[in-house]
Amino acid sequence: MPFQFGLDPRVIDWRDRIRALVEDVVIPLEQRAFADGIDDGLRRELQAAGKSAGVWAPQLPIELGGGGFRFDDVAVLLEEAGTSLLGALAINAAAPDEGNLHLLNKVGSPEQRERYLRPLADGDVRSCFAMTEPPPGAGSDPAALRTTVRRVDDGWRIDGEKHLITGAEGAAFCIVMARGGSPDDLEAGATMVLVDADAPGFTITGHARTIDSTMVGGHCRVRLDGVTVPDSAVLGEPGAGFRYAQVRLAPARMTHCMRWLGAARRAHEIAVRRAVDRTMFGSRLGDLGMAQAMIAENEIDLAAARALLWHTCWQLAEGSRGGEESSRAKVFISEAVGRVVDRAVQLAGGLGTSEELVIGRIYADARAFRIYDGASEVHKMSIAGRVLRRATSA
Ligand SMILES: Cc1cc2nc3c(=O)[nH]c(=O)nc-3n(C[C@H](O)[C@H](O)[C@H](O)COP(=O)(O)OP(=O)(O)OC[C@H]3O[C@@H](n4cnc5c(N)ncnc54)[C@H](O)[C@@H]3O)c2cc1C
Repeated sequence: MPFQFGLDPRVIDWRDRIRALVEDVVIPLEQRAFADGIDDGLRRELQAAGKSAGVWAPQLPIELGGGGFRFDDVAVLLEEAGTSLLGALAINAAAPDEGNLHLLNKVGSPEQRERYLRPLADGDVRSCFAMTEPPPGAGSDPAALRTTVRRVDDGWRIDGEKHLITGAEGAAFCIVMARGGSPDDLEAGATMVLVDADAPGFTITGHARTIDSTMVGGHCRVRLDGVTVPDSAVLGEPGAGFRYAQVRLAPARMTHCMRWLGAARRAHEIAVRRAVDRTMFGSRLGDLGMAQAMIAENEIDLAAARALLWHTCWQLAEGSRGGEESSRAKVFISEAVGRVVDRAVQLAGGLGTSEELVIGRIYADARAFRIYDGASEVHKMSIAGRVLRRATSA
């Protein structure tokens, strides 16, 4: 399909209905969520509204109850949902479930699709994805993976410790990444395993008290002590975990970009409103040159981020694996989001740092996006590495 910027009427229809859902139902629930946190009761309330608005899971295929949109169309829809920090949750397109849905849909066996994918797609349960480990384990460098998966008589045994696992508290199951399982060398490679949260030996031992606060189930420390699962719990081929991590990561990075672009746009719009309403030094704030510079720089960053996002999502929709493209886009967009929200705080003054004006909440929640799904430095290293390899072999 040739690249084009016009929106299909069905995309416009869904975008407008998502906008109405966010304005009429989701935003009115924000202050309650900021004050009390988000639990599964609030999630169900939001998701009931998302379903009845007819905008459920635009990123999922129609046979799974979703919208069946191309990935470049999803970019438009998730940006809209992201204008509230709760918007993506309302339409079952929030992390980490959204990435797990994609992975299960690509790699899951028929039995795994029925047991894990279907209830997750319907919003009946939540899930988590466990890769990161406390130092010296896996973080930026996946080669440091220490959690092990070993063959035992009745299946596979997993031992290790994970941390910063979003949504683990209250999740029905976890996709665990562990070292081992390769058919040629059982100690080598990595394997993804589906672990039920009530499996003996799977324990949540704590929560990281991070600066963000809008993820259901928090960011948990998880112990796996001799967790034993049958062969049917292995996701895809044993030993192929690093390959499947890429299947999950490139699109998941982009859906993060979509949602955070929406959040940054909202922060900017709130700040612009303040620049129009606030008077000082005999004029509107928005008529002062330094305020205008911030407004213009935000517009430029938002437009550039959107253009790069749409192009990258089009490449993925057209079948590119998107490793390099998504790295480029993730670095630029996560950093542009940081700049836009920071300027929005500045323009809005003291209340810009508050949850009351929402910008303060977006500022705190968005910061981690420059670290998870690959810190900027990891992506820059990988981009430069590819460029140098190409130059070396030319
Ligand atoms: C809010 C939040 C939610 C998360 N949710 C999940 C989850 O659900 N599941 C999960 O598995 N993990 C999750 N994580 C963990 C996240 O993926 C890791 O924090 C991330 O991969 C970085 O690993 P690390 O924290 O061990 O930092 P480290 O690996 O110790 O890296 C520290 C810093 O080193 C720098 N760095 C890295 N590479 C280079 C380089 N090549 N050159 C120079 N500097 C470099 C970067 O600035 C990086 O921030 C989450 C993290 C956060 C903050």
